[in-house]
Amino acid sequence: MRSLTTKLTLAFLIVSLTVAALAAFFAWRATNREFQTFVVDRIRDEFITKVSAYYREHGSWLGIGRQFPPLPPPSQAQSQGPNMPKPVPISFALVDQNGIVVLPSGPYRPHDRVPASVRSEGTPIEIDGQIVGTVLMTGKVPELDSVEQRYLKRTNQALLLAALSATMIALLLGVLLARSLTRPLRELTTAARAVARGDLEQQVAVRSRDELGELTEAFNQMSTDLARATQSRRQMTADIAHDLRTPLTVIGGYLESMRDGVLQPTPDRLEMMQTEVHHLQRLVEDLRTLSLADAGELTLHKHEITPEILLMRVADTYQLPAEKLGVALQARITPDLPLVRVDEERMVQVLGNLVSNALRYTPNGGQITLEARRGDDSVLLSVQDTGIGITSEDLSRIFERFYRADQARQQSEGESGLGLSIARSIIEAHGGTIAVESEMGRGTKFTISLPIQT
Ligand code: ADP
Repeated sequence: MRSLTTKLTLAFLIVSLTVAALAAFFAWRATNREFQTFVVDRIRDEFITKVSAYYREHGSWLGIGRQFPPLPPPSQAQSQGPNMPKPVPISFALVDQNGIVVLPSGPYRPHDRVPASVRSEGTPIEIDGQIVGTVLMTGKVPELDSVEQRYLKRTNQALLLAALSATMIALLLGVLLARSLTRPLRELTTAARAVARGDLEQQVAVRSRDELGELTEAFNQMSTDLARATQSRRQMTADIAHDLRTPLTVIGGYLESMRDGVLQPTPDRLEMMQTEVHHLQRLVEDLRTLSLADAGELTLHKHEITPEILLMRVADTYQLPAEKLGVALQARITPDLPLVRVDEERMVQVLGNLVSNALRYTPNGGQITLEARRGDDSVLLSVQDTGIGITSEDLSRIFERFYRADQARQQSEGESGLGLSIARSIIEAHGGTIAVESEMGRGTKFTISLPIQT
């Protein structure tokens, strides 16, 4: 039995069959018992009416034995078969108010005294507000007559029919429910197989809000992330190849020309080649930093430092370049900020990267503000410029590796598009976060949040 649908359907069927059978059995037993009680009550009432009439007429039980002769002894009762014990038909003994048997039957012999405990199980006869005797049942409940038997049979048939119909309905519902439960599982299996074959972008329809719905949503998310990760890995390999090719082509070209004597190795040309080598070295160093961060192996030399020192180091470094570009660079620092525990050189690298980006995208006459202030459980360091801004489409992607908003311009300036991804990796390795907000034409603000040492 390999299919979950079959297993679920069978489980539903077994449960519903058990419930229907139990319900039918108890209903059948209750009906039979009620019917017997009804028959016994009817015979007893008849008996009580007769003996009560006798008592009313005679004022006592005296001589009642003559009017109600005892039933024939069992040997004379109607035979049921040659060797079968003969059932004793239902019969009643009557005892007077003192517990003396006046009408014998079964174990109650004439003039025996019946104890009160036995009498309390019988039916008292009350005449004019006084208990004058007790009726005690003996013998077996009689066979039902044909009308009664037919009635009981019909009732039992109806019960059986109800139980069968309930089982059929339960089976039908069980099949439907089992199919609807297993459908998303079947779809997920198909989609998972497709992913295994390399068809990563799979979306399965979410049909419910239960655990299966959650599983489907999680699968869809995983599939999207997987496709995206694979795409960005491919893109990254292509980007690395591209970024390596340009400087290598330049260096290779110069070397070849110099070897062939076409060009002389002048200081200018050697300088140009060295610049390209620097590019390559930086690219390789950036990639190494990123791969270390990915592996969680970025070594951080942390120590406690005031945020002010960090900002002032960066501000001092970029003051002169900013002045040259006609951009005002200022630092705004809230006094008495708590200490942060960071790798000072890495943090200066991150902040320096943000300021050099800001300088690149802020025109003459603009302003760059470095700020340090207190957050909820953190210290916030921000770099804000009044530059060109970033479009909302680019905003969601600038932390991606090799992403450059303005491809042509930056490649020519030798920027790798790795600066912000490295910044984010370093900040996250410190347990912090980095966020960006920007408005086109008005400027951009990067905010780093670092946890406070407690
Ligand atoms: P790059 O090495 O090319 O500077 P980054 O990762 O540092 O790469 O930046 C990614 C992209 O984000 C840049 O190419 C640029 O388009 C955009 N960007 C970063 N900072 C700013 C800023 N202050 N103003 C406008 N655009 C910015």
